[in-house]
Amino acid sequence: MSMRELVVLGTASQAPTRQRNHNGYVLRWDDEVILFDPGEGSQRQLLHTTVTASDLTRICVTHFHGDHCLGLPGTIQRLSLDRVPHPVAVHFPAGGAEYFARLRHATSFYETAELRVEPIEADGQRIALSCGTLEARRLRHPIETYGYRLVEPDGHRMLPDKLAAYGIAGPAVGELIRVGHLDLDGRRVTRDEVSEPRHGQRFAFVMDTGLCDGVYALAEHADLLVIESTFLESEAALAAEVGHLTAAQAARVATESGVRRLVLTHFSQRYADPRRFHDEAREHFDGDLIIAEDLTTVQLPPRRVASAG
Ligand SMILES: [Zn+2]
Repeated sequence: MSMRELVVLGTASQAPTRQRNHNGYVLRWDDEVILFDPGEGSQRQLLHTTVTASDLTRICVTHFHGDHCLGLPGTIQRLSLDRVPHPVAVHFPAGGAEYFARLRHATSFYETAELRVEPIEADGQRIALSCGTLEARRLRHPIETYGYRLVEPDGHRMLPDKLAAYGIAGPAVGELIRVGHLDLDGRRVTRDEVSEPRHGQRFAFVMDTGLCDGVYALAEHADLLVIESTFLESEAALAAEVGHLTAAQAARVATESGVRRLVLTHFSQRYADPRRFHDEAREHFDGDLIIAEDLTTVQLPPRRVASAG
């Protein structure tokens, strides 16, 4: 199966710490390598991973607060320096187009990379990719902010022993998948007889926001949810006031949305001990729980087994 994983570049909100770089995440998903919210230092953090700037196919920015986008100038210039041969799509809230233009041309450089600038104009905007659909949902934050999710369509997994039992091979398999059935010597074989349903995988990226419908829309049945938990419940009032989540809120969203693997990140520098985020979230979520650390990799969990039928 092709590689699907999250590479964490940085995990700090607002201000970096000695242990945590500003935000930054890369999602490898088949032929897409998507950079989310490159904060300051993202270009250098990449050097500590197996991802290179020229691997990037797409950049998604949730909003134009500095910790989510001040890595854009360096990263964009690096694409040209490395003469990236393929186009790189860039998505960001349309209302922040002026910020993007400034960051893109922050200093003089010789631009050779082809950027395909595709701003997010509306809640629910969808972008068709070869590996699924990228969808943006409006979040609740003091400035225009969109979270993203990548949804692979449900499909079928062909069962080799059943295909063999009917003597179906080669181009006939493709026809069976396409048409849904195959007529063999007067007997019709349907796709369902020789395959099992296969759930599409889902990745969601939720950053920065207070609780709102968009959070739940993005998190719904995510196999891997990356979500901000800037604060702990002791600062719940402050979190609500400034449009952020607590670890407990993020964990409850994950439970209510059927999330399988939960990655908490974007931590305020006021908390020295990351165990506190784990302990608070654990009270509300009993699935896979990861408190993100810089320069770690998180795999998509194996596909959910689809119910028979
Ligand atoms: Zn923000």
